[in-house]
Amino acid sequence: QTAEFDAIVLGAGAAGLFCAGEAAQRGLRVLLVDHGRKVAEKIRISGGGRCNFTNRDLDPRAPQRHFLSANPNFCRSALARFTPQHFITLMQQAGIAFHEKHKGQLFCDERAQALIDWLVERCTRFAVQRWQPAQVLAVAREQLPGQDICVPGRFCVQTSMGEARAPQLVVATGGLSIPKIGASDLGYRIARKFGVPVVAQRPGLVPLVFSPAQQGVDFAALAGVALPVRVRVQPAAARPDMRTAVVFDEDLLFTHRGLSGPAILQISSYWQPGDALCIDLLPGQDALALLRAAKAGSRKQLVNIVAQWLPQRLTEAIVAEQPQWQRPIDQVSDRALTALAERLQRWQLMPNGSEGYAKAEVTVGGVDTQALSSKTMECRQVPGLYFIGEVVDVTGWLGGYNFQWAWASAYACAQALRED
Ligand code: FAD
Repeated sequence: QTAEFDAIVLGAGAAGLFCAGEAAQRGLRVLLVDHGRKVAEKIRISGGGRCNFTNRDLDPRAPQRHFLSANPNFCRSALARFTPQHFITLMQQAGIAFHEKHKGQLFCDERAQALIDWLVERCTRFAVQRWQPAQVLAVAREQLPGQDICVPGRFCVQTSMGEARAPQLVVATGGLSIPKIGASDLGYRIARKFGVPVVAQRPGLVPLVFSPAQQGVDFAALAGVALPVRVRVQPAAARPDMRTAVVFDEDLLFTHRGLSGPAILQISSYWQPGDALCIDLLPGQDALALLRAAKAGSRKQLVNIVAQWLPQRLTEAIVAEQPQWQRPIDQVSDRALTALAERLQRWQLMPNGSEGYAKAEVTVGGVDTQALSSKTMECRQVPGLYFIGEVVDVTGWLGGYNFQWAWASAYACAQALRED
């Protein structure tokens, strides 16, 4: 027997849960389907278990400041209609305590489970039906006989828990990152099935890996070293998304296989194979001027001078690269000091790749926004079919922007859904 609904939402993550609750609150009969046993696993593990659920520093008029997309202005409308303050108000009404950390990032005071419980409780209160764990076996659309030709009818979703039909289908199945907690490509497959274009995907907010031989750096020996840096991409070829230089001033962390930390996670979303990275290890300072001033008044070993500005282990590794740098500073030529300043402030390196979807926080790319209404998230060519959250080609920076996109796109969609 087929169950009938006003809307079926696929994916009980941040966007799906929020959308289902919002639509049900407006009186719609909603079915929420997920293949996982638990809902919103990514909320649970996000932000070190405390979920960085939004960011106060978000200007919807300048989305490129915090979001990537092949169509950078697409997210403006939804982000302007459902702002961080809207979600903050909901959190306050729900009695979920939170605090601000670095750069406007808001985190739950206690475990992120409180936020998940609230999203689920809202769905339960407004009678959202949940099928879980339910494998989605097929998604199709009925063809009803019209006057001359068949006209599209309801969406039919066959699952391992039964069959459901609705005139509206919301795809909120997220991206490809962290398959071990339920990520799949279902959303992209549904898009292609209905002729909706999909922008090529790649892992984002992900550690980068390097071949030590090529870089001349023993990453394993430096693992655990952290320092503030300025990082940018040097694209292999001209790219429209890199017309304005994207620069991050954040912390960098050496790992056994390469580099991580907020600076690298942020820049990784812009990096593509073949691009180089340029890292300034002394952001906001003039290394050459510092070195010249030190040379004028000191006979210390160069390594001890540089160690005043950089972590010891990193300093030793850098100075070991050139015999001319392994001397008292007054015996180091001006040319060698210039080369060292260059090494410290314009360190160029070529990533071999990334840690991939197993470690990526997000997926860059996804359902092509040119095919969607920016007001409702509905497909222009397929009325009744909606895509929300990370499955869409809108990717936020680190810092709560991805959840804010999940809430805002879910809200835009939920307002557009209609009773049958
Ligand atoms: P998801 O939350 O991924 O939900 C998709 C749902 O669809 C899942 O429940 C999944 O089980 C279900 N699904 C998938 N495939 C199928 C299928 N075939 N059949 C049925 N169901 C399916 N963002 C921030 O803003 N702040 C943070 O602090 C933050 N920290 C993060 C930490 C980690 C480790 C990771 C991995 C991500 C983090 N993110 C963070 C990103 C954020 O979690 C995502 O952008 C956000 O969860 C996307 O919401 P979504 O609802 O679109 O997708």
